[in-house]
Amino acid sequence: MIELSYFAAAVLFILGLKRMSSPVTARDGIVWAGVGMVVATLATFFMPDMHNYGLMILAILIGGGIAWYTGKKVEMTDMPQMIAIYNGMGGGAAAAIAAVELMKGDIPSTSFQVLAVLGALIGSVAFSGSAIAFAKLQGLMKKSLVFPSQKVVNLGILGLALLLGLVLMFSDSPGGFLLFLFFLLALAFGVMMTLPIGGADMPVIISLYNAFTGLAVGFEGFVLGNAAMIIAGTVVGSAGTLLTQLMAKAMNRSLGNVLFSGFGTTTAGAGASPEGEMKEVSATDAATMMAFANKVIIVPGYGMAVAQAQHKVWELAELLEERGVEVKFAIHPVAGRMPGHMNVLLAEAGVPYDKIFDMDEINAEFPQADVALVIGANDVVNPAARTDPDSPIYGMPILDVDKAKNVIVVKRGKGRGFSGIENKLFFLDNTRMLYGDAQKVAADLIAEVKQL
Ligand code: NDP
Repeated sequence: MIELSYFAAAVLFILGLKRMSSPVTARDGIVWAGVGMVVATLATFFMPDMHNYGLMILAILIGGGIAWYTGKKVEMTDMPQMIAIYNGMGGGAAAAIAAVELMKGDIPSTSFQVLAVLGALIGSVAFSGSAIAFAKLQGLMKKSLVFPSQKVVNLGILGLALLLGLVLMFSDSPGGFLLFLFFLLALAFGVMMTLPIGGADMPVIISLYNAFTGLAVGFEGFVLGNAAMIIAGTVVGSAGTLLTQLMAKAMNRSLGNVLFSGFGTTTAGAGASPEGEMKEVSATDAATMMAFANKVIIVPGYGMAVAQAQHKVWELAELLEERGVEVKFAIHPVAGRMPGHMNVLLAEAGVPYDKIFDMDEINAEFPQADVALVIGANDVVNPAARTDPDSPIYGMPILDVDKAKNVIVVKRGKGRGFSGIENKLFFLDNTRMLYGDAQKVAADLIAEVKQL
């Protein structure tokens, strides 16, 4: 029955993940995977030789309680750091399992001991690295910390951790001081590896730690002989790896570059300064341009999330559609602060999925758009990525809003995007700036369109 329950849990994890691949079924997918987790947890209570039920229940109550509370309370804009910390906990849990199994010293075979040590290393790195990522995104820490010979120091720590790991893998009694030192080095490496990473690369590293956690859980699943952990770990590990690749590609960074370049620490002000000046437009004129357009493409970004303007933006889009304007939404893979951030917000506002287009689907349509309305997006529409080889974001795929006949950019002032780079789009002849909080501006535009 226990094996069968774990099998059912694994099937639920996989089906849940499958359902998460479409916004229509994503909510269900989360529930399916959650049910899988409940089944797996309950089954564990019936394992032979299980004891300490009181502690297990206490741990579930404390962990579940904190997760319930923070999950309810977290703002959409704080989601990346929440993912970072939860994910880090998974890595930490896997490492803790490894520590207990190694200290017990009764791991049945050397190959399992090798896996236990590897899982301990990867899980510890994911744990401490994610904690630093959390602290940075939460604003508790300076964005990035770079010092001379950092790579050498980091390599030294990793080398020592690997060396100790190797000794532990083949030791008959892998506990004691060596084990303690090994964990200390592994945790230190996670911290050191994350310190120099800043700016726009943060989500990539969070996703990488996600993959690490999956791998660590999978390895420890072998050690414990727990099929559900092996399958869940493998699924998380491979999904995390794919997501890491996808995000790195969307930011035009190789993984090596993300980990070692210190990007985001040196980008402010980099690239050629844009020429010309930003030209302002009034809400009345902007509303008129859109109301009499044939086609409007709306490009949301992080600012829309901050302002929680999605409902008003959709109300504006509906008003335009009533007037016969064709309205589409264009989403960049890393718009906002987490993958799918904009999709979630637009879905919450009730925007039908057939009006939402990915970058690759919509980019060819910008030249036919009369107006591209950019709401709180910045980096993801910076044409320097296409045109300025000196720009730090050169080569990053972007939404080609600059090719639209007219561009209206809604933002509060002259603030830069996440990467700290000036945006050439704002200085183009066909661009007009509409300053203000995105929600307020959307409300103004609605009022103006209604009056026409
Ligand atoms: P950006 O962070 O580049 O720009 C957001 C803009 O919104 C700012 O320039 C800001 O200008 C404006 N803004 C902020 N608050 C408001 C508000 N209340 N009303 C109106 N405007 C506002 O956002 P993008 O979405 O274009 O790009 C995302 C960036 O974040 C990329 O660099 C990406 O690499 C990075 N990133 C992406 C993650 C992901 O997975 N999606 C995760 C983490 C980082 P002003 O201050 O003048 O208002």
